[in-house]
Amino acid sequence: MTALLEVRGLKARYGKIEVLHGIDLDVMQGKVTTLLGANGAGKTTSLRALCQFMASSSGSIKLAGTELVGRSTEAIAKMGVGHVPDGRGTFQGLTTEENLRLGAYARSSREGVEADLARIYDYFPRLKEREKQQAGTLSGGEQQMLAIGRALMGRPRLLLLDEPSFGLAPLVVKDIFGIMRRINQEQGVSILLVEQNARLALEMADTAYLLETGRVVLSGSSDEMKRNDAVRRAYLGE
Ligand code: ATP
Repeated sequence: MTALLEVRGLKARYGKIEVLHGIDLDVMQGKVTTLLGANGAGKTTSLRALCQFMASSSGSIKLAGTELVGRSTEAIAKMGVGHVPDGRGTFQGLTTEENLRLGAYARSSREGVEADLARIYDYFPRLKEREKQQAGTLSGGEQQMLAIGRALMGRPRLLLLDEPSFGLAPLVVKDIFGIMRRINQEQGVSILLVEQNARLALEMADTAYLLETGRVVLSGSSDEMKRNDAVRRAYLGE
């Protein structure tokens, strides 16, 4: 198995305060990896640092062997990293379809964009029904679908997902996680998933890393993590 993403010694600061203290992690090609941890552990910061949203990060981040540190966020998107931020970040005044088309802006060839749009509407029929509706008037679940769809329009090899379940009803979460699994399996898109809901994340993921105050304190296969006593007590509520 080869690692698509190799992160070594990743540090990040907000101002003078260091919040990631040297993180090592791998995302294997075609697999789902999850970052677990309590509020404030540094999960969101890790995803931001990976796509170099933060100027103040250091370490090494390699995508298929190519160093990402020092490149612009836009260049990283073009290299195949799609980021679905927490809070979703859709353009509220634009329609569903306009948001999706914006997701393809970094692609050099216009060919394939129409086919990809059709493919995304196939995964998310709810978005097709609402193609002309302003994003700001969509439900929370629909906005999450739109954010994922928009990232997919960039044809990512790696999708970084920040708390896709946040604030959504259980049935909607089930629906969205089912579609993400299909996207992973059918399109071969590797996923790095940040989730508060450890149970859900471990169901979906192949491998998990547990972050505590900016450090990886435990990692393993999802099955190993589910059996770990500390994980069960602190994160699975058993
Ligand atoms: P949550 O699930 O609550 O979002 P998290 O694991 O994603 O938690 P981060 O959001 O990465 O954690 O936060 C890690 C640390 O960095 C926290 O102590 C937080 O207060 C701090 N932090 C996050 N964003 C900023 C910011 N913009 N400025 C200053 N400190 C920040």
